[in-house]
Amino acid sequence: MEVIIGRKDGTNQLSLKVGNKVSIKGPQQSVNDGVSRENHCKLTVNDDGTFTIENLKPQNQTLVNGLPIASKRITPNDVVELGWKRYRLDWNLVFEVIPKMVNISHLRLVKQRYDEETQKLTVKQGRANALRSITSVLSMGAIALGIFGVANNSGSDGGFDIRIVLYALAILLTVGFTIKSFIDASKLPQQRKDLQDWFTRNYTCPNCGKFMGNQDYDHGVSLMECCPACKAKFIKG
Ligand SMILES: [Zn+2]
Repeated sequence: MEVIIGRKDGTNQLSLKVGNKVSIKGPQQSVNDGVSRENHCKLTVNDDGTFTIENLKPQNQTLVNGLPIASKRITPNDVVELGWKRYRLDWNLVFEVIPKMVNISHLRLVKQRYDEETQKLTVKQGRANALRSITSVLSMGAIALGIFGVANNSGSDGGFDIRIVLYALAILLTVGFTIKSFIDASKLPQQRKDLQDWFTRNYTCPNCGKFMGNQDYDHGVSLMECCPACKAKFIKG
């Protein structure tokens, strides 16, 4: 995107031309006649959020931090002066005509974290399913063994059989594991929902909050020039 900067003849205001649209900014007589009419210099908005300023005619003079330039990469922290009378460019007026810029580089981490957490939940789900089938087999086995063991030993010597205690313990443990696996598995839908909510809140345009959808960062969002909703320009570095 480019802004042609110059002076509006007659009223001596700042003229900012973007495409075919000319915007006149600032009070009358705020721009001295050292600034060329309509096209003194050109300001290009770069993808990384910096600007490149270019002097448009040899007879014009464009200065950055006091030094004349032909073309220079600058940021809004640099002082830009135009013409031999050194009209100082007001960046705030420039920002009135170029779309707002927002840095979206943090969205790569948001997507990465979402993908990792989704993967973890899938693993948890698989583990819960496996544990559930194992524990039910174990419970049945323990109960069968217990009944068999107790029946087999009843009345053999009339004494206390330690195996009864072991069987009871095995049954308790397997029942415990089964309950735990069911509880863990029952938390998964809520965890999935929380993760999706977090993603929907954070994988968004920093300017207007529009959700970027489930598209990839590197192959999707980072290729977008601007927000589809608010048109804020995306900076990726
Ligand atoms: Zn937006």
